[in-house]
Amino acid sequence: MNNSLEKQDFDIKAEDLKKSYGNFEALRGVDLSVKNGEFYTLFGPNGAGKTTLTKLLATLTDPTSGKLSVLGIDVKKDVQKIRSTIGVISHDPYLYETLTAFENIKFFGELYGIADINERAQSVIKQVGLESRSNDLVRTFSRGMKQRLTVARAIVHEPKILLLDEPYTGLDQHGAQIFGEMLSQLKKQNRTIIMTTHNIDEGLDLSDRVGILSKGKIVYDSPTSQTDPINFKDLYISKVENS
Ligand code: ADP
Repeated sequence: MNNSLEKQDFDIKAEDLKKSYGNFEALRGVDLSVKNGEFYTLFGPNGAGKTTLTKLLATLTDPTSGKLSVLGIDVKKDVQKIRSTIGVISHDPYLYETLTAFENIKFFGELYGIADINERAQSVIKQVGLESRSNDLVRTFSRGMKQRLTVARAIVHEPKILLLDEPYTGLDQHGAQIFGEMLSQLKKQNRTIIMTTHNIDEGLDLSDRVGILSKGKIVYDSPTSQTDPINFKDLYISKVENS
């Protein structure tokens, strides 16, 4: 009983998670516990395993070994149920350029079988500040606007958990600022958010907890309140170099 209650406290719980591609071990035993409503940012250099971990959490690929549960459900037991609770945003927008913003969101919403999709699509497009461009083709959008539309796509089915893999890639300073403001709005809606990023300032600013992934292992994990933002870059470099 106590055990199951403990599990419910964490929206994501990974234990000794490993993932190999052939002989290469991309994740070498990751332990990660993310609480309900927590914003967790994971920093790490290229090749650290960030995308691999995001794909595992999104149930898009299977671990080689280890345990993973999402909202208390073991991924081996009910992948479909878990998928319905997750929204994924990566650096690649995966939008249809020749459809309008509205048509894109409607398309993805229909895949989830959402009732009243017209209303819901309009509502999420408004939420990401693209209401006035709803009927414009996505190919006319800036990188920043496309990235905001990917957020609308990721939240159309009201997921409890959002996974963001390097969402700042390709955004200019203004785009990054608008994007950051949108993430802080999403955080206020009590979603559980896990983000990977290179962007140390934004990542520290938004998150409740930060981690550093290096060579397939989490080498630092701490509440943001106990992390010194001024010296974090030095800490990051030393953790990565010594891993
Ligand atoms: P990151 O997102 O931190 O840059 P990745 O998860 O993309 O890291 O990759 C981690 C390591 O796994 C890298 O060395 C990468 O080359 C390797 N890798 C990723 N995907 C594959 C794959 N499908 N096949 C073989 N190696 C892969």
